[in-house]
Amino acid sequence: MDGLMMDFPLTLPTVLRRSERFFGDGEIVTRLPDKGFHRTTYRETMRRARQLAVALKQAGLERGDRVATLCWNHHQHHEAYFGIPCGGFVLHTLNLRLHPNDLAYIADHAGDRAVIVDRSLLPLLETFRDRTKIEHVWVVEDSYEELLATANPDDWREPDLDENEAAAMCYTSGTTGMPKGVVYSHRSTVLHALGVAANEPLGLGVSLNDAVMPVVPMFHANAWGYPYLATMQGAKLVYPGPHLDPETLLENMVVEKVGWAAGVPTIWMGILRLLDENPGKWDLSAMKAMLVGGSAVPRAMIEGYEKRHGLKIVQGWGMTETSPVASTAALPYELAVADEETRWDFQAMAGIPLPFVEIRARVGDQEIPWDGEAMGELEVRGPWVAKSYFAAPDSADRWTDDGWFRTGDIVSIHPKGFIQIKDRSKDVIKSGGEWISSVDLENALMAHPAVAEAAVIAIPDEKWAERPLAAVVLKEGASANADDLREFLAPQFAKWWLPDRFEFVDEIPKTSVGKFRKTALREQFAAEPARTA
Ligand code: ADP
Repeated sequence: MDGLMMDFPLTLPTVLRRSERFFGDGEIVTRLPDKGFHRTTYRETMRRARQLAVALKQAGLERGDRVATLCWNHHQHHEAYFGIPCGGFVLHTLNLRLHPNDLAYIADHAGDRAVIVDRSLLPLLETFRDRTKIEHVWVVEDSYEELLATANPDDWREPDLDENEAAAMCYTSGTTGMPKGVVYSHRSTVLHALGVAANEPLGLGVSLNDAVMPVVPMFHANAWGYPYLATMQGAKLVYPGPHLDPETLLENMVVEKVGWAAGVPTIWMGILRLLDENPGKWDLSAMKAMLVGGSAVPRAMIEGYEKRHGLKIVQGWGMTETSPVASTAALPYELAVADEETRWDFQAMAGIPLPFVEIRARVGDQEIPWDGEAMGELEVRGPWVAKSYFAAPDSADRWTDDGWFRTGDIVSIHPKGFIQIKDRSKDVIKSGGEWISSVDLENALMAHPAVAEAAVIAIPDEKWAERPLAAVVLKEGASANADDLREFLAPQFAKWWLPDRFEFVDEIPKTSVGKFRKTALREQFAAEPARTA
């Protein structure tokens, strides 16, 4: 039919041009290694991004070549987020917390030809570079500046990009099997930014004067899309650099009047502890909401922030394979004005999908009812959900025959459509043939006043196949024993759900992106046979 709309490609150069043209004065603030504040603008950053695009081409890189980054969150990394894809190359963010063997595998598998690296991370790069095909190393504040100086930003010509061309890639952290590469297209990146923008938080509420602080690393699934979203909206960006301790993050929030921040629960639990210990010390009146996700967000934390500090947490769910934001717990209609207990109940769920993300949950071929009770594996589809992994044909079974991605997350779905994550399938506890949700138990334990952190794992059991064990970190100066905790849980769960064993530990081991590392706990505790209740 004629009279139709333009076939306009959804690509990042359009976002770059928009930002330069309309939001040139917008600020990008970085916390430097020496704790100083570095300030620049979108105008300058995008000029340098164009310069980078030109320089990479002059250095001999070709369309589609992978250019890696091994960097903390800072303004030069932001340049790379635009300069690399806007030059027609593929930004590959390397996770600086991984073991050198994993980094070697990932950089080699992706075929990275070049890397931009922080000076402080150069020793890490040296431990694996010889196992990769990396030809060029550009060091931030050093040879990277020399690289930029070789190029004139005005020589940048927008490559004639197809919106389905690769813009960026990121590997899953590979808690099972080898890490898998996920490739984001220009189209998926732009649509993801729009999808997140269409929702709460950091959505329509973001005005030009709001500062956004992505605490989530830029090597963790595109920092959840916030660099792109903030650039599209012209919002001020605050990058924490290498400083992720609660005290410095709070300082950033106060000094830069941060309105929106995002990160994993472990970081936000640390911030809450500090706020509780020093009520009123930090003026966080500019803060509108904090997006927390990546692992289950304890209800007690959501409640603690709101009740004791007047701060709002919005939970998000997603995966590297889903760009990553797929759902957020924004409360529609009557839920937005419900009593606080009801609101916290819903905020403690993974929320409803963003527009154009669709969900279902199945056991075998059977879809489970959306009754908040039945559990099944969550499947998703949408324009920013991966269709396959990069060069990993043996992983095709992660997609169903009818084109949905199998998340590996075991969920129930509330009648109102809210996803309730119960477990990852590899963490599931199957006792006497029935599933026990470690997430529900952890959530409940972390509501105990003496508990700082709790992780529940399955350990082998002769009679029941598996039983839950709770590893618990107590708050400083607080005390509780196994009986206290079991008694605390008892009214909330069936008797057979209650952990048989409680182990009090100094710290829960964490993964490279700050999630509970349950494999390490299982190795530590599973050897010793459980006492059957
Ligand atoms: P990995 O954890 O393997 O590094 P991802 O960062 O892609 O890889 O993690 C995705 C997983 O994180 C999801 O499959 C889910 O298990 C977990 N997750 C993410 N958000 C939430 C949430 N809000 N609640 C519970 N689990 C979550």
